[in-house]
Amino acid sequence: MSTTTAFPLAFDTTPSSARRAEAEREAILADPGFGKHFTDHMVTIPWSAQQGWHDAVVKPYGPLQLDPAASVLHYAQEIFEGLKAYRWADGSVWAFRPEANAERLQRSARRLSLPELPEADFLSAIEHLVKIDQEWVPTAPETSLYLRPFMIASEAFLGVRPAQGVDFHVIASPAGAYFPGGIEPVSIWLSEDWSRAGRGGMGAAKTGGNYAASLLPQAEAYEQGCQQVLFLDSEERTWVEELGGMNVFFVYRDGRIVTPALGTILEGITRSSVIRLAEQRGHGVEERRFSIAEWREGVESGEIVEAFACGTAAVITPIGRLKARDFEIGAPDAEPGALTMSLRDELTGIQYGRVEDHHGWMRRLA
Ligand SMILES: *Cc1c(COP(=O)(O)O)cnc(C)c1O
Repeated sequence: MSTTTAFPLAFDTTPSSARRAEAEREAILADPGFGKHFTDHMVTIPWSAQQGWHDAVVKPYGPLQLDPAASVLHYAQEIFEGLKAYRWADGSVWAFRPEANAERLQRSARRLSLPELPEADFLSAIEHLVKIDQEWVPTAPETSLYLRPFMIASEAFLGVRPAQGVDFHVIASPAGAYFPGGIEPVSIWLSEDWSRAGRGGMGAAKTGGNYAASLLPQAEAYEQGCQQVLFLDSEERTWVEELGGMNVFFVYRDGRIVTPALGTILEGITRSSVIRLAEQRGHGVEERRFSIAEWREGVESGEIVEAFACGTAAVITPIGRLKARDFEIGAPDAEPGALTMSLRDELTGIQYGRVEDHHGWMRRLA
């Protein structure tokens, strides 16, 4: 969708008059959990078919005013992103490959017939928010400020067509360490009845609908004593796709690494970073179809020695056990794999400024 917007956007700032006091903020940052607490400000950039992107603002965090006929509420024309701001030892604050999030938001926008936000405006939005709320970036190990950019169709219209009024927002939420007691391998449940995406569907877009589709199978996973659900392809129920919100990798004894090819899965930025780091270490990385049978047989024969999941929230998480209706692979108390842990250390080391960033992945925000 083309726009006539001036480039790049200027941001108007209205500071909050109700900023949380330091003591309250520190109490939250001492135990932030995930996605429960939000900073004092947010960014909003409206878009209209006539004006394009315009009137970018940093303003106090607060409820949206949305017409009950806003099409996002009816037809789910919505996309989002997820990335973190990391506090380095010297007090500076950095984002990991935010240009990749900007680009992916544009790809998601195309799939959902939403307008594309220019990369410069996406980056400017997160920089403005992190600067004004930088005291909300926690300092404890493995903590971060989670940034949630999202775009919704806000036009009040019940007809089914791409909305002519859209809003882009960014909110921020301090996040505690994902594994406060040390890395624990996850147990995952194989969803044999439900799919998250089909060929030609929205699987490659970061959109709320995919998450809505994952909630029922995710509930099944909990009932089975597992934390996550693994999806197969929707046609043959044979090929491994991904977890509800994480990509998956398999490590062979000979050092080869396999990860499901793109198509119906979400192209994780962690996934692509893991591929780069592994290749740099000399591992052959195969992006291809990988069947559930290959996993099972590979583990039984000893060919497959590690499996892990990855995404921004948990970085890299060892998979301890896969539970299916008729079989199980691995064990809940399996030791995390050596390569899994070493890739995790390297990636988090780059993110927190402990390991040199040879890739130009880090971008300073504050
Ligand atoms: C966001 C997401 C991922 C992980 O992507 P990252 O960019 O690595 O955080 C994987 N799968 C799904 C379905 C996702 O929505």
